[in-house]
Amino acid sequence: MKTRESYDGAIERTLFTAKEIDAAVQRLANQIAEDHCRQPLTLVGVLKGALYVVTDLARALAAIPDGPSEIIVDYICVSSYGNSARSSGEVRMLKDVSEPITGRNVVIVEDIVDNGLTLQYLRSLFEERRPASLRACVLFDKPYHRRVEVPVDYVGLQSPDQFVVGYGLDYQELFRNLPYLAQLRPAAFKEG
Ligand code: 5GP
Repeated sequence: MKTRESYDGAIERTLFTAKEIDAAVQRLANQIAEDHCRQPLTLVGVLKGALYVVTDLARALAAIPDGPSEIIVDYICVSSYGNSARSSGEVRMLKDVSEPITGRNVVIVEDIVDNGLTLQYLRSLFEERRPASLRACVLFDKPYHRRVEVPVDYVGLQSPDQFVVGYGLDYQELFRNLPYLAQLRPAAFKEG
């Protein structure tokens, strides 16, 4: 796949192709549709990383007969990594959802779960708002360094124990637009 030159030099290898990611999103959509058959559903994408997975998931759900009766797509923006490749361990909300979730069936859609703190923060924030049901969907699971045990209802693919980029995931705001998941070359990591 041809990408910009500066991107080409930074990528060590592809971990999951666009096709493999599409298939995983479809599998997730099938599972979510089964659990929300003919029921209203709110998908909450966790920005910025989940920007592609939540939209692809919403479109895949629309094509499934006997899926949810209606879908609201909403977003929440949180930050835990700042501008580095290591989590600060502190989750900050930058933008809340724009629609109320009280009484709704809610699925939180995250790009990747690593130490689990982001998902734990969102689960407890949303539980307080009394949704009808609350589930979590992650496209990539990195189960190696959990700091908290947090339930994940739908898991797409298992990521290797590495810092990964692409399909929404960034390094210093770059590489999100890659349609595949990739590992960066060590030289691509800037100091600071
Ligand atoms: P957690 O709070 O579970 O450690 O991490 C959740 C958030 O950290 C994700 O939504 C994502 O934004 C970021 N994150 C975790 N692992 C990675 C990774 O390998 N690559 C990138 N780009 N972001 C990650």
